[in-house]
Amino acid sequence: MTATLPPAEIATGVMTWLSEFGDALAAGDPAAAAALFTEDCFWRDLIAFTWNIKTMEGPAAVEEMLAATLAQVQPSGWRITDGEEPADAGGVVEAWIDFETAAGRGRGHVRLRDGRCWTLLTSLYELKGHEEPQAPGRRPKGVQHGAIRERTTWLEGRQQEASELGVAEQPYVLIIGGGQAGIGLGARLRQLGVPTIIVDKRGRPGDQWRSRYKSLCLHDPIWYDHMPYLKFPDTWPVFSPKDKIADWLESYTKIMELNYWPSTEATSAAYDEAAGEWTVHVERDGQRMVLRPKQLVLATGMSGKPNQPSFPGMDEFRGDQHHSSAHPGPDAYRGKRCVVVGSNNSAFDICGALWENGADVTMVQRSSTHIVKSDTLMDIGLSALYSEEAVAAGMTTDKADMVFASIPYRIMAQFQTPLYEQMREKDQDFYDRLEAAGFDHDWGDDGSGLFMKYLRRGSGYYIDVGSADLVANGDVKLARGQVDHLTEDAVVLEDGTELPADLVVYATGYNSMNGWAADLISPEVADRVGKCWGLGSDTSKDPGPWEGEQRNMWKPTQQQALWFHGGNLHQSRHYSLYLALQLKARQAGVPTPVYGLQEVHHRS
Ligand SMILES: Cc1cc2nc3c(=O)[nH]c(=O)nc-3n(C[C@H](O)[C@H](O)[C@H](O)COP(=O)(O)OP(=O)(O)OC[C@H]3O[C@@H](n4cnc5c(N)ncnc54)[C@H](O)[C@@H]3O)c2cc1C
Repeated sequence: MTATLPPAEIATGVMTWLSEFGDALAAGDPAAAAALFTEDCFWRDLIAFTWNIKTMEGPAAVEEMLAATLAQVQPSGWRITDGEEPADAGGVVEAWIDFETAAGRGRGHVRLRDGRCWTLLTSLYELKGHEEPQAPGRRPKGVQHGAIRERTTWLEGRQQEASELGVAEQPYVLIIGGGQAGIGLGARLRQLGVPTIIVDKRGRPGDQWRSRYKSLCLHDPIWYDHMPYLKFPDTWPVFSPKDKIADWLESYTKIMELNYWPSTEATSAAYDEAAGEWTVHVERDGQRMVLRPKQLVLATGMSGKPNQPSFPGMDEFRGDQHHSSAHPGPDAYRGKRCVVVGSNNSAFDICGALWENGADVTMVQRSSTHIVKSDTLMDIGLSALYSEEAVAAGMTTDKADMVFASIPYRIMAQFQTPLYEQMREKDQDFYDRLEAAGFDHDWGDDGSGLFMKYLRRGSGYYIDVGSADLVANGDVKLARGQVDHLTEDAVVLEDGTELPADLVVYATGYNSMNGWAADLISPEVADRVGKCWGLGSDTSKDPGPWEGEQRNMWKPTQQQALWFHGGNLHQSRHYSLYLALQLKARQAGVPTPVYGLQEVHHRS
């Protein structure tokens, strides 16, 4: 164990490194800069150097990236962030840093080992000359004092904008999908002065949450879930019921003054390279319109495109059957025989609610699932960054997001595994009971648990809020195996097991977001951009090769002017900043040469 250094010495070490690093960059010397990194280093860049979301692994990759970007980026002003003391955690010195580039201002985080950089995070948070009009210092006045003839009120201005945008004036950005992702990004673009329209086929903002099964509450706690700019009030519950979050999102679109078109379905989109714009056909309240944005964002939901299985006999089945996304809730199924195919979050939530309402419930487990108890996950997995205690200790949402972002994906599993070992130990009793009930439980391919599963494949887990015990104690019956076919009144598994059913719910997950591009644009474009999500970890449902960042999310794709946005509330909040800045830079004519545009290895 390395002895901890005194604070002054820690700060001096960081300042020395920053100064040498800054000098090498100012001298345009990528090799000298790369020599300041350890052999096993990582540099994660969120659009500051690469106009991409990219992690460079090893000094050679650092040098190569700098050789390609340095002349244009012109970084300077490397310093420790005011008020942030560097700290030494067992031989790794950590510090928050600020810097500038020719285009904007950045912040980041550095971890030093023996005076050399092990991990570096650089991120751009604002563009010079395009700073957001917000406090401190730039809050809009909201009024023009004086005597002004024919003054336009705020309301008149808003009404005029709403009536003209998309009709007399084309939006620069069109966001298809007005869930939390679309509106969070829309809010940032509004603050950046980018004319934007958000279209959603549903009738009201928040309807995607309203339409989900009625027992649903967010599985993540409030500190993880804030939208950009507008925090939930202190009276808000830790776990938001779905209709409450829906109402919050609806209010958000108003408060943040978004140009949100409800009941508007995008039906097709095509890119005209010569004109540098999209032609997007939409039906707004049944009326056909054409929009011509320069940039198109698909915020159509990572959990929005149901993976609907097809089993022989489905057409003969006489009961109700639907995908989990269409499950109305348990009310109609009291006393009925319900078979839920799947064993992840939705499956457990739906089984629990059906059981609570007096249904006879069977879960069909087709492959292993990872389960953690909600309290345990909050306590061991999230509390250091997203909790009441973290807030009390001075942790802000922004800072927590940056801490998370500072851990390179390649080594994140090794940070996560010990946490899940603690969780296993804490709830060993529970896992013993689950396994005794025949439940096939896993901890992820490499034992790294829930968050890595989420990043790699976006599925394969349940955050237990009570339903797992129903399976463990047999109240919800468990059947294991693949579905072979359906009969008029039963689900039949491959081993011949027959499960009589009045209702079958297919809790079989969701498809990759590039499927939306296939539907709206063309299968060729969907194939060209390739699979969305996953890291290339070569674990289940996340095939290699290693890609190092989430495929296609929040960054340039192989289709010019096409972007994907989404994820959970935390990711939507944090990464919408970088997507908004990439779009703003293009609108403002700031050069945005993309370094290391991702290659496509998988189509879906
Ligand atoms: C059951 C369940 C529980 C979840 N729990 C949590 C949780 O606890 N915490 C968390 O952070 N995340 C959770 N998620 C994941 C994620 O946060 C949600 O799926 C969330 O709704 C994603 O937001 P989004 O804006 O990316 O997409 P969505 O909310 O799916 O919104 C996409 C929108 O696109 C619209 N759309 C699609 N096609 C078109 C078109 N052609 N034209 C116009 N509009 C279109 C849809 O109408 C929809 O409103 C959960 C997901 C599910 C399914």
